[in-house]
Amino acid sequence: MTSSYSTDIVIFGGGIAGLWLLNRLRNQGYQAILLETDKLGSGQTLASQGIIHGGLKYALHGALGGAANVISDMPARWRSCLAGEAEIDLSGCRVLSEHYYMWSDSGFRSKLKTFLGSKSLSGRVTAVEKQDYPDFFKAATVEGTLYKLPDFVVDTNSLLQALVEKQRDWIFRVSPGSYTFERNAAGLVNAISFSDGDTQFTLEAQKFIFSAGKGNQQLIDDASLAEPKCQLRPLNMVYVKGKDLPSAFVHCIGDSFSLTPKLTVTSHSDAKGETVWYLGGEIAESGVGKAPDTQIHSARKLLTTLFPWINFAAMEFHCFAIDRAEANVRSNSRPEDAYFIEESNVLVAWPTKLTLTPNLADNITEHFAASGVVPSGATAQQNLSDVLEAAEIATSRWD
Ligand SMILES: Cc1cc2nc3c(=O)[nH]c(=O)nc-3n(C[C@H](O)[C@H](O)[C@H](O)COP(=O)(O)OP(=O)(O)OC[C@H]3O[C@@H](n4cnc5c(N)ncnc54)[C@H](O)[C@@H]3O)c2cc1C
Repeated sequence: MTSSYSTDIVIFGGGIAGLWLLNRLRNQGYQAILLETDKLGSGQTLASQGIIHGGLKYALHGALGGAANVISDMPARWRSCLAGEAEIDLSGCRVLSEHYYMWSDSGFRSKLKTFLGSKSLSGRVTAVEKQDYPDFFKAATVEGTLYKLPDFVVDTNSLLQALVEKQRDWIFRVSPGSYTFERNAAGLVNAISFSDGDTQFTLEAQKFIFSAGKGNQQLIDDASLAEPKCQLRPLNMVYVKGKDLPSAFVHCIGDSFSLTPKLTVTSHSDAKGETVWYLGGEIAESGVGKAPDTQIHSARKLLTTLFPWINFAAMEFHCFAIDRAEANVRSNSRPEDAYFIEESNVLVAWPTKLTLTPNLADNITEHFAASGVVPSGATAQQNLSDVLEAAEIATSRWD
């Protein structure tokens, strides 16, 4: 006999979006469960640099209001969660750096200085006096200007742990393709039928949320939704391990107000406690399709040019390909804000950035409240752990 289960919300995908939503919805009294086909965080979340952006990129492009305002509110929003004082308790999440910096060593500096002194950024970006430089820049052997941004950096490993900790009983691993979506007489998705070896059951819910990053496209197809479409932005990320590598948290700005810095460095620790530099920015975009040796050669050359006071010769370099997954809302252009759309009882969501996840969760919970989706109040806890395994948390590439 096929058993039946029911819950209020079923979330697909255990990256930042799904895990944040699970916490938010359960804290609001919804019965919500999360299904993951791989390890939690194994998509973009653990591969992200963990920078909680304050929106400088938007401001550099003169974009004020709308998306720029939403993102500029995010650092404060995250900080209250990290202090355990807001809707999600992230007090267990480590902050890797309280500040993020921007370094300019080019002739472009005077123009940048004028712009950064302008009204739109006043109080948000400050030039750092030499005596206040972080250790890494105190040793600089080239002239440059350092700016402190409102951004900061979180450790994505402990972020995942903090989000999973209180919800372990509601997070399950499922095999890809082990379920099909069922529709009711009104044509709305109202259940999923599972069949995996001897395990067969039906799970009914009021709403389904697809927050599976790159995996959303397959889910959209499986549920026969007409909209939306997922777009992928490939990257070739590099990381560097080395004895005595100092910590650095910095965007290196090139010769133009580019949306993408020449290099974006964040510093992490591997399992042995050794520092790892994780490199994004233009190097990761221009490196797409390059063979590992070629990409590593480019990264070594760039690092040696930008930071001649560090000897990278004996350091270990690695690279890997990863896609950013976003909604394709405006003909392949980059979306600026968190995105969701509902169709046939299914919400398809992409936060666009780790930073914007609180905003995505606000938008979805407000949408539920406005459309009368309320906690069912059911007290009987049917135990899905009888039929599904718990999902594990992934580990960083450098571990
Ligand atoms: C290299 C890189 C660096 C980045 N750096 C930053 C940064 O510094 N700051 C910032 O704000 N943003 C950053 N981002 C963007 C940010 O990481 C993403 O916007 C965010 O992590 C997306 O989270 P998500 O939960 O939507 O997707 P993901 O993290 O990709 O999670 C999706 C999950 O769904 C699972 N899944 C897939 N298919 C299915 C299915 N059918 N059923 C169930 N589960 C499924 C996957 O296994 C995965 O665990 C970066 C992205 C990349 C790639």
